[in-house]
Amino acid sequence: MPKRLINKIKSIVKASRAPKRLKAVIIHADKHSFDPNSASPGAIKVVNTLTDAGYEAYLVGGCVRDGLLGLTPKDFDVSTNAHPEEIKALFNRNCRLIGRRFRLAHIRFGREVIEVATFRGHHSTSSDKQQSSTSDHGMLLRDNVFGSLDEDAIRRDFTANALYYRPKDNAIIDYVNGFEDIKNRHLRIIGDPKVRYQEDPVRMIRAIRFSAKLGFQLSPESEAPIKEQSELLGLIPAARLFDEVQKLFMAGVAVTVWERLLHYDLAQWLFPLSVPNKNLHPGANAMITQAMINTDERIASGKSVTPAFFYAVMLWGPLQVNWHQLQKDGIPPVPALQQAAQRVLQQQAQRTTIPKRFVATIREIWELQPRLTRRHIKRAQQLIEHPRFRAAYDLLLLREAAGESDTNLGEWWTEFQHADATTQQALAADHSQPKKKRRPRRRRPAKSQPQ
Ligand code: ATP
Ligand code: MG
Repeated sequence: MPKRLINKIKSIVKASRAPKRLKAVIIHADKHSFDPNSASPGAIKVVNTLTDAGYEAYLVGGCVRDGLLGLTPKDFDVSTNAHPEEIKALFNRNCRLIGRRFRLAHIRFGREVIEVATFRGHHSTSSDKQQSSTSDHGMLLRDNVFGSLDEDAIRRDFTANALYYRPKDNAIIDYVNGFEDIKNRHLRIIGDPKVRYQEDPVRMIRAIRFSAKLGFQLSPESEAPIKEQSELLGLIPAARLFDEVQKLFMAGVAVTVWERLLHYDLAQWLFPLSVPNKNLHPGANAMITQAMINTDERIASGKSVTPAFFYAVMLWGPLQVNWHQLQKDGIPPVPALQQAAQRVLQQQAQRTTIPKRFVATIREIWELQPRLTRRHIKRAQQLIEHPRFRAAYDLLLLREAAGESDTNLGEWWTEFQHADATTQQALAADHSQPKKKRRPRRRRPAKSQPQ
């Protein structure tokens, strides 16, 4: 065969294997509402420094999406064709390279951290196992194949998260119809939903988070495989899930998120002990629902919510079941509570790693519950000074609201903590137990000695 023909065939084969280039839609400044002044000056500086050095760089993801929706972005992400080492060389001491599965750069400006990721390419065309690898379940274990801007766009999760903002001319670059989807409030996964959830099952809980938080309709194709593939979430390492769970429940829509996680059978992979069919302590589910309502209210009024309190509530039911069982087995209440806490926290940590500092606080909140039943003046005054009193008291109120106890203990503590010393004395006196008289010890009859 003539060489020319061979080369032609080769080039046709090569072209058919090469991924199709997508065409971008450019949305110019007069056609969108993204306000450059609302963007973090740090993020704009990162983009400008990269472009001045000859690289391509854009704002991307949640900050562009939220900017278009008139919301305040939580953080700013930048996407560039500069490789991690090149970014490091440019920003030097302010830059730290992180991540193995997904390598990226963190650039620090005072307290703000800008996340800079190199454009991702098609991992299917890469044979380099160092940069890209997939598990037997189709899960991406490593995603470090670099590519072009259009390839980067379709590697992102949802169309609404795949818009790029170019500060130089205030333009938005859209390869996936994300701009229209945002306008119509649609959340749509990019590509084949089944495959994209297989590649990274965390995308299923991100679908729940974004649809709930933004009030977007999850498209039918993006929704369809979730329930069926929910168990894939069980493959995600516990270390990655703590942060995702934080974001899920701290987005101000915890009530909806929990309902949907249960609906799609995802909840059991995050809180296996807390789902209704496992959490059999009476009132525990009502308590979880009430905690979600309170969390949303606190976030709406700008207050903080600590992960420790959240976990203390989620695991209260399982803790009780274990605590009672251990006491039935003959272990005294205090060590039984400690052992039950150990058990429950260990089981939870198989699904979401809980950082040590939170574990200590969760235990304290639980261990304060029996102490709250003692209303002796000195002890009560000490207890309200305890750094975890507030959280323990909040948990007590939730337990009572869920019908766990009818002693009005919560009400008593509400009064006591705000009262002056005299009122505190009176409150405590009402509940002081008459001192038990010590009964004289009965002598045991002497055991008859064997003859
Ligand atoms: P927010 O910061 O408000 O939680 P976000 O969309 O910015 O939302 P990040 O987790 O900060 O979410 O991620 C930044 C961007 O990176 C996303 O918008 C998306 O384009 C991409 N991304 C994040 N996680 C994934 C994932 N698991 N799969 C594909 N793309 C992802
Ligand atoms: Mg973000």
